[in-house]
Amino acid sequence: MAEIKEWRYDRLTWLEMKSSLARQPQPVIAVPFGAVEDHGPHLPISTDNDILNTVLEETAQRSEGDLLVTPTIPFGLDEHHMDFPGTIAVDIETCLAYVSQVAISVARHGFTHILIVNGHGSNHSIADLAARKCVLATGAICASTTVNAAVDPSLVNDVLETHRKGGPGSISHAGEYETSMMLHLLPDYVQMDKAKLDVCQLKLKYFNWDYPEPSSFSWQDYWSRMSKEGICGDATVASPEFGQVLFETTVTRFLELVREFRTIPIRERVDHH
Ligand SMILES: [Zn+2]
Repeated sequence: MAEIKEWRYDRLTWLEMKSSLARQPQPVIAVPFGAVEDHGPHLPISTDNDILNTVLEETAQRSEGDLLVTPTIPFGLDEHHMDFPGTIAVDIETCLAYVSQVAISVARHGFTHILIVNGHGSNHSIADLAARKCVLATGAICASTTVNAAVDPSLVNDVLETHRKGGPGSISHAGEYETSMMLHLLPDYVQMDKAKLDVCQLKLKYFNWDYPEPSSFSWQDYWSRMSKEGICGDATVASPEFGQVLFETTVTRFLELVREFRTIPIRERVDHH
């Protein structure tokens, strides 16, 4: 059979899937886990899924078959955003069961390296636990990660440092980062005349949301108790140029991450009883 160029997991036939499983080395399988929630008055509620889907599509297309992407799980843990019209909320237990069962299904077919790719901050712990459940259930190498710097900036820390225009707290949710990404990816859906500065989260000695200072504890309030319009950051300083640099850097480094992740060996367990 000819080399499979398709990047979408669900666009293969089951026969092509057998070829993909037999490939050496196998492709990494990405399971995107997103959200539909308010992103201020200037961005669509699809923003988390838009960033997640475009980064994964571009990375997979450049990967020459090293990355296959399942359909996105579009809804996540979002009860704390339900005061904003349009948000879709799924509870913690359902999210964990659903995401872990998707990853476990992939592993049961024989794929050995699986990444749950999270696109929404509040999914972080669930994505991590779902990956753990997959490892414990199947022995596959399954991990969680993100390609959204508002969730975790580690892929683009240096770009944020050198290119950001906003002050402390500008990056976070629907702020300088996500607005810039959307200006680059889907400019027709960004209403910059409605973009605002609202650095609404508390900054304490041991608690802080924004890059680069880590917080010593994690806490998530109801969004309507902290943010006026669903922004936590500075959307006014966003630009498509910043978005382009962020997107290119994210795709390049995520592809490196995928190829490094694939080298993790599956070692034998030892029963020391
Ligand atoms: Zn977001």
